[in-house]
Amino acid sequence: MGKKSNYTFWDKIANYFSIDIGLDLGTANVVVYIKDRGIVANEPSVVAVQTDKAGEMNILAVGDEAKQMLGKTPGYIEAIRPLREGVIADFEVTQKMLEYFISKYHKNNFLVRPRVVVSVPIGITPVEKRAVVEAAESAGAREVYLIEETMAAALGAKMDSVLNSRGGMIIDIGGGTTGISVISLGGLVISRSIKTAGDSMNQAIILYVKNNHGLLIGENMAESVKKTIADVTDSPSESLKMTIRGRSLESGLPESLQLTSLDVKRALNESVIDIINTVVETLDETPPELAGDIMVDGIMLAGGGALLGGLADRLTKVTALKVTIADDPLMCVVRGCGEALEEVNTLRKISL
Ligand code: ADP
Ligand code: MG
Repeated sequence: MGKKSNYTFWDKIANYFSIDIGLDLGTANVVVYIKDRGIVANEPSVVAVQTDKAGEMNILAVGDEAKQMLGKTPGYIEAIRPLREGVIADFEVTQKMLEYFISKYHKNNFLVRPRVVVSVPIGITPVEKRAVVEAAESAGAREVYLIEETMAAALGAKMDSVLNSRGGMIIDIGGGTTGISVISLGGLVISRSIKTAGDSMNQAIILYVKNNHGLLIGENMAESVKKTIADVTDSPSESLKMTIRGRSLESGLPESLQLTSLDVKRALNESVIDIINTVVETLDETPPELAGDIMVDGIMLAGGGALLGGLADRLTKVTALKVTIADDPLMCVVRGCGEALEEVNTLRKISL
């Protein structure tokens, strides 16, 4: 994967002029980091495509523009979230998306091709790894490095365990997957990945509102409920309420009603228990020495789901461990990719 021990003269020149890129290829959001400039883009991982009669795929829009088309496109246009399942479910579209983001930020530099660090989900297969590398190469990358998402998140959250022998636990709750890893010495000691994450929580809210209130709501409404009034602690705040709109199952007409945080807690109960059980199982499997470190340092939460109201408290209550929400948790993974770009030794150590 482009690892070189001795740089040639031309490599040195290329390194000097190159714009190096870090890419968090998340199931919900793609975040782009450029060396020496920082985070330059944060857009939803959505691609709008139109397939012509010959089966040729045309990209109409990527990112923010494409997300606005989700659920609203006429028949011949499709808005796709290629990474939704946490793996590369739709490779061709993923490739187009990677090309879009790499070329967008590299178009002013024809001389040198970028070095690209891409974070990939835990448990990605060798075929999928190859696919990501090829996609980045065909988008113009000179060298491609892959790092595991939870590793990148740990690096971005500045956890000690990435580079020394201390054990640390990171939980990265994204849109399509929740990754849980115990890390030590720049390696993943134990890793789990489950599909209970942001998207499935939205679905749980949709189902709850349908079954208990006879109201059909859309995904955006469900997500907004989750971000605004969720409180999954044992005693959810009674003052958190929100008016939601949807279509009545009975009359078929638009209707609105008020949802409380207790509703949301009930809707998300199974999701939260799923995550908690997986954390407990992972702790059970952790070698004693590393478990000792985790007892002292606690657990780090990253990804958008880290912000779920009351989750950190619930986790503390069950595990009796300190739970820290990383600074700006949605940016943790890309910050880690950026750290790795800035520090070649770190990159070599942790890349796959
Ligand atoms: P990915 O890495 O899979 O792209 P992100 O880390 O970008 O995912 O997180 C996106 C998920 O986080 C979405 O499902 C979104 O609904 C969820 N999310 C964002 N903010 C909040 C919040 N305040 N409370 C609960 N969930 C949130
Ligand atoms: Mg992520």
